[in-house]
Amino acid sequence: MPEQKRDYYEVLGVSKGASDDELKKAYRKLAKKYHPDMNPDDKTAEAKFKEVNEAYEVLSDKEKRAKYDQFGHAGVDPNFGAGGGYGGFDMGDIDLGDIFGSFFGGGFGGFGGGSSQRANAPQKGESLRANLTLTFEEAAFGCEKEIDLSRTEPCDACQGSGCQPGTTAETCPDCRGTGVIRIQRGAGGFAFTSSAPCSRCHGTGKIIHSPCKTCGGSGNVRKKKRISVTIPAGIDDGQAVSLRGQGNAGKNGGPAGDLIVGVRIKPHPHFQREGTTVLYEHPVSFYQATMGAELEIPTIDGKVKWTLPAGTQPGTTFRLRGKGIPELRGRGRGDQYVTVRVQVPTNLTTEQRDALRAFGEAMGETTGERPIKTFFDKHKKKK
Ligand SMILES: [Zn+2]
Ligand SMILES: [Zn+2]
Repeated sequence: MPEQKRDYYEVLGVSKGASDDELKKAYRKLAKKYHPDMNPDDKTAEAKFKEVNEAYEVLSDKEKRAKYDQFGHAGVDPNFGAGGGYGGFDMGDIDLGDIFGSFFGGGFGGFGGGSSQRANAPQKGESLRANLTLTFEEAAFGCEKEIDLSRTEPCDACQGSGCQPGTTAETCPDCRGTGVIRIQRGAGGFAFTSSAPCSRCHGTGKIIHSPCKTCGGSGNVRKKKRISVTIPAGIDDGQAVSLRGQGNAGKNGGPAGDLIVGVRIKPHPHFQREGTTVLYEHPVSFYQATMGAELEIPTIDGKVKWTLPAGTQPGTTFRLRGKGIPELRGRGRGDQYVTVRVQVPTNLTTEQRDALRAFGEAMGETTGERPIKTFFDKHKKKK
């Protein structure tokens, strides 16, 4: 059966109607008075310190205080009923799950599954996200970039322990450093064991009496960092690079999180990309398309020579093999497709028009001379 407990209001030396401020004041005074550091040789001080903490934890919590006011210790004490059933306490309109917290969630008849949820178990740090905007060529061939970010790192001053240098943390006596309190209950002849985070150490398993001044006891400090990122050739818009261990520091000796770098690619004035394929439109004159020509075609490797066959039709597409984007983490490369765009000449001089007319006549073609002439004349006057 639970030991006889003192009334929480009595423990803190306040009245039942005490305000939050009065509670806090009373708690601070008593916590200081009974703090184990202040009373290294006094065992009763430690017990009193514990009692004061427990009382304040309940009374400073609005819901717990209401339950305590209504049901006394039975309403809030997680140890209530240990080995002895529910006694005479009226369960009428009380939400059991609410009162006992992990009673139902803590596993039936065992301690099972608890270790991964323990607050003092090693935890991986949070991953961070950053964005990079690359040029078309940087994405195609890969590049080195630098990212400035702010992340948490283990505190140098205390080596991540959270204790002021020269001091150490005390193993929490309530949970013996496990961060978890095992609760035994009996109901209807069955015995249950469940677990709950230790309230004294907030599940950390240790009590820091002199917190490190640099990190305030958290063991981590926020730092600005410049991180180098290697972008692999062939990365595409919307893809990301993950840098393991470059995120926020882990907890309880867990590994740091990752840095996820999302990639955007700036549009290129001439090239378009589809996977590893580069699409490109090359302007040629009517004359070149008709007669054929030696062209210089821009690619991501620079200009390449290409022979346009005589009589190439507008919209014809030809392929430059291997001039596309490298495969991401592969060896091959895509191709570049070049579409011929034939440009119709405008603003011809009289001489040029005569030459073209002669050409038309040689081809046996007619244009209906007058309207065309009017059109060109009008066009000329406007300029
Ligand atoms: Zn503890
Ligand atoms: Zn520190």
